[in-house]
This record gives sequence, C-alpha cells and structure tokens, in this order.
Amino acid sequence: MTVLITRLYLIDMSKFWSETIQNLTPYVPGEQPKLANLVKLNTNENPYPPSPKAIAAMQAEIGETLRLYPDPGSDKLRDTIAQYYGLKADQVFVGNGSDEVLAHAFQALLKHDLPILFPDITYSFYPVYCGLYGVSFEAVALDDAFQIQLNDYQKPNGGIVFPNPNAPTGCPVALVDIENLLKANTESVVVIDEAYVDFGCESAVGLVHRYPQLLVVHTLSKARSLAGLRVGYALGNATLIEGLNRVKDSFNSYPLDKVAQAGAAAAMQDHEHFEITRQQVIASRERLVASLQQLGFDVLPSTANFIMAKHPGHDGEALTAALRERSIIVRHFKNPTRIAPFLRITVGTDAQCDALLSALREILR
Ligand SMILES: *Cc1c(COP(=O)(O)O)cnc(C)c1O
Repeated sequence: MTVLITRLYLIDMSKFWSETIQNLTPYVPGEQPKLANLVKLNTNENPYPPSPKAIAAMQAEIGETLRLYPDPGSDKLRDTIAQYYGLKADQVFVGNGSDEVLAHAFQALLKHDLPILFPDITYSFYPVYCGLYGVSFEAVALDDAFQIQLNDYQKPNGGIVFPNPNAPTGCPVALVDIENLLKANTESVVVIDEAYVDFGCESAVGLVHRYPQLLVVHTLSKARSLAGLRVGYALGNATLIEGLNRVKDSFNSYPLDKVAQAGAAAAMQDHEHFEITRQQVIASRERLVASLQQLGFDVLPSTANFIMAKHPGHDGEALTAALRERSIIVRHFKNPTRIAPFLRITVGTDAQCDALLSALREILR
C-alpha cells in the first residue's frame, strides 16, 4: 500500500520537471558494486594504482587552504598538459572528467542546424548529450566487421564525434583516415574522444596545429588510473577552447578542485609510472585475447584496455550471468542487438584475467 501511494505521488510530482528533462533518457553507468572480493572487469578502470607521485601531491593539498576556492583556470595543470603535448596553455581545456568536457563540446561546438554524425555503435553518452542540449544527430552504421568507415562521414553535417579507439568495440581508426576526413570536412568541428588512445592507438593530437576544426578529448580515468578523481581535458585551436570556456564560465567556474588539479598535474608528469602500467595492460590484453581465442571466442581487434568477445555456442547475456555467479563482472549490452552476443571485458591484471579464463572454462564445459 505504501509503495503504491509513493508511486502515485512520484508520477504526479514529475509534472514539475521541465519538458526537456521529462523527455530525457539518461546514460546508465556500468555497475559499481558494493560487494567486496569481486573480479571487477565491467567499467574499464585501470587495475593498477595511480602514480604514487600523484597520490603524494593530492595528500599535500589536504589542509587548511581548502577553505579557499581553487584556481578557476587550473593554470598549473593546463601548463603541464600543454607542455606534455608541445601546445600552448590556451589550446588546453580541463574539466570534471572527460564526460563534462564532451558535454561542453556538444553544447558549445556541435549544436548547429545540421545533424551531427557519430557511429551507430559507440559511447552511449553521445545521444544522451544530444537529448540534453537539443542537438540533432544521425547515427552512421559501422561496417560488417564493426569498423568505423570514415568515408561514410563525408556528407553535410553539424559536427562529427567518435571515440578512437571506438567504444565499446575497442577497434581503432588509422590516423591517415582521420587526416583525410579533416581535409574533406572543414566546415564543422570534428571531436575525437581518445579516452583509450594510450593503450596502443595513434593519437590525432599532432594534427591540432594543422586542422583548426579538430578537438581531441582525453581523460585521466583510464590510462592514468584516476577514474575516481574526475579529470579530463580537450586539446585544440584556441578559439574552440574559448568556446568551451564560455560554457564552463556560464555553468561552474570551479569544475576542478584543488586536490584534482594537483593530482592530475603530478600524474601527467610521472612518465615512468604511466609507461610501465600501460605496457602491462597491453601485454595482458594480448595474452587474454589469445587465451579467449583458444576457448573458441571471436574477439574484435582491440587497441583499448577492454575487449569485445563472443562465443558461437553461447549467449552473451547467459555468459555474463554465469560469470556473475562466480563473482566476476563483465559488461553486456542488450542494445544495439548487433552487439548483444558479445561480452565487453575490461583487461585486468594477469591474475584477474586468469580468474576470468578459469571461470569461462568451467562454464563452457
Ligand atoms: C570512459 C570514457 C569517457 C569518460 O571518461 P571520464 O573522464 O571518466 O568522464 C569518455 N569517452 C569514452 C569513450 C569512455 O569510454
């Protein structure tokens, strides 16, 4: 009875929501389970800890000065990132996770009369931002091998956005194809979401000098093991960056707190930790792919820290459930139906991958 009353009350109360919010279909993040001792291979976090130098820099920020606002421009962090890529500070924008940076890009740079283009199988936040900001879009189909074919994007558009490597497929686009797209597509912004680029894909950052319509977005959540800190950044022409700053300074002037600014800058400077951990992830991925293939899985070619794998004799949803019973969580997408047979598996440590493989051997038996 109480449940029923609460429900009715809620239905009635939603009339206070704006029309935009009533019509939204929000993004559904992968599960962050409260249970301990799970092998968590579902949200593409790095299995290795962040740089110890980043942790020390963050600890040093925790004290009396937290009563003060942080630097609204995150100048030291932007200088550090600019230096890392050989760019100027006004070519760098930082935000509270690359999700926020992408959201600002949709509002500032991708909202025009023509629909924007992105792959039909891609990061599912893109259509959500379109709903939030009223951006029309056209989903461009991946080819039969689940690859992005950039020739299909050469048509009038309000902007183009795709991840490289793509998510959740893990498949990369070659830099030469991106440059050809930029040569042909000069009248709208091209956003390349390089969340996973450090796991073996060619970055388009080097093209920023030559193509003013290019915006490259990165995150510290994946290759730098800082998903919990929420830091992402965009690199591009200073006028594109200024467009993002106009949104930021009309929304939240302090998206990055003091701890995040200090930790992110230190993480960007710890080249050694970055190299060692990303090489370990790459090596574990190659080992995992080979073992899954031995078990009869088809695996899409991945340059990310995750892989998409399906077994000809087993349903994706059933395999995901059977793994869960064995305390291993992977991600399964019911939609689009083309990827429903697949499991999306984050590359963990070799020990975590071994736990997954022995559970799969047991299930397949
Ligand atoms: C993880 C991910 C992001 C979001 O990263 P945050 O910086 O943690 O917000 C962006 N794009 C893609 C494709 C991702 O998979």
